[in-house]
Amino acid sequence: MDRIVILSGAGLSAESGLGTFRDVGGLWSQYDLADVATPEGFARDPALVHAFYNARRTNMADAPTNAAHAALARLSTYPGVTLVTQNIDDLLERAGASDVIHMHGELSRALCHVCDTRWDAPREMSPDDPCPACGAAATRPDVVWFGEMPYHMDRIDAALACTDLFVSIGTSGTVYPAAGFVDRARSAGARTLELNLEASGGSFDEVREGPATELVPRWVAETLDGP
Ligand code: NAD
Repeated sequence: MDRIVILSGAGLSAESGLGTFRDVGGLWSQYDLADVATPEGFARDPALVHAFYNARRTNMADAPTNAAHAALARLSTYPGVTLVTQNIDDLLERAGASDVIHMHGELSRALCHVCDTRWDAPREMSPDDPCPACGAAATRPDVVWFGEMPYHMDRIDAALACTDLFVSIGTSGTVYPAAGFVDRARSAGARTLELNLEASGGSFDEVREGPATELVPRWVAETLDGP
């Protein structure tokens, strides 16, 4: 099978009931990004930021996986498939995927910003929680905020440099560096495909429009079982 790099975004989990950010009624129409998704916002009001992510964690726990997560989990068991997600939810893992690259971190993990220790986040975090390693009351959700460096970029770049196919699923292509992956893959000679409710306008060889729960299982079946 060809080598494949898949990049997913909030649209993958939209039909599981988790809101996207930029669609009408999305999270950024309800919250100010600068307050809840930047290091400066966290420094100003950590209680507000924890409350925002506590609510996301509760929504995530209640959300069912969908057919698109299940299809990607099936595909991810094949060698040569690299699954990168901007999502901080755990729905791909709960659908059975292993080795998901969470470039924007994970809601289910906590991070001490004094000693960099990571551990499983409780459902409710608060500014008073002590770090289990150093004891500092400096714990934060292990998610990447605007202005911070996404995780695992070396591994992602290595996969993009030698992939045969790059597939973008349910992402608006507005947050860099993820938005640049399509050009990186194209310049390395890969074919590029977008699966999205509405085309993002990125420079893809092929775009298929529709809900992820329809498009993704169909594309995975084509890839594994033939057209
Ligand atoms: P975005 O809100 O900018 O874009 C959502 C995209 O999903 C749009 O292109 C839209 O057309 C598409 N979409 C909406 N419903 C869809 C459906 N049913 N099927 C297929 N596509 C659908 O989200 P993004 O591009 O992922 O933005 C990146 C940032 O959003 C990341 O930082 C990510 O961490 C964060 N985010 C994550 C979650 C999550 O973990 N579930 C939720 C919201 C935002």
